[in-house]
Amino acid sequence: MKVVILLGAPGAGKGTQAPLLANRLGVPIVATGDLFRSAVRDGTPLGLEARRYMDAGQLVPDDITVRLLLDRLGRADAHGGVVLDGFPRTAVQAAALDEALAERGERVSAAVLIDVPEDEVMRRMSGRWICRAAGHPYHAVFSPPHTPGVCDIDGSELYQRADDEPDTVRARMAQQLGALADVIAHYRTAGVLLSVDGLQGIDDVAAAIDAALVEAGLADAVESEDVR
Ligand SMILES: [Zn+2]
Repeated sequence: MKVVILLGAPGAGKGTQAPLLANRLGVPIVATGDLFRSAVRDGTPLGLEARRYMDAGQLVPDDITVRLLLDRLGRADAHGGVVLDGFPRTAVQAAALDEALAERGERVSAAVLIDVPEDEVMRRMSGRWICRAAGHPYHAVFSPPHTPGVCDIDGSELYQRADDEPDTVRARMAQQLGALADVIAHYRTAGVLLSVDGLQGIDDVAAAIDAALVEAGLADAVESEDVR
């Protein structure tokens, strides 16, 4: 069973790469949000337990999340493995996952990191601007207006919501990036970290992930035109 963890900071492009990676490995993506929602919907005992915490606005405890993950790994479509997206988020969760997998004679095959430097994460996450008149969205890097500070469509002023201001983004990111660094260190120590340069274009990131999987023996080399 291939258990592959996808790691990356917000804005690193995990959402784009996750389906490509899952497709390449022939396994489903398991995102923890979906896991909670389906367990709650199915009304399983674990789902009901998870729901108590969600209803109270609390984080679902790690042991419940890990048990939900193990249940998911036992389903037919996951017999070849899974790509985990959104878990583990902390080193404690990573250790809990290792332990639970070890009890089944399994282990994490690889942790694929889409590596984007912290200042670039800030640039990507704090570049959102919207117009006063209609909320038309712009991004300082990815979709800048023709004239700085002015909406292309209606000519109204562009502004940043408090949530999108650099200082607010920096504060919000600090904790998340710290936890991510711990998870990266965990898998580096375990010898399963595959790091790819996240500053490249989408296709090049996908190709780099592919090459890393082949080198790690997790995927067979294919003709370049068949990769995507
Ligand atoms: Zn506008």
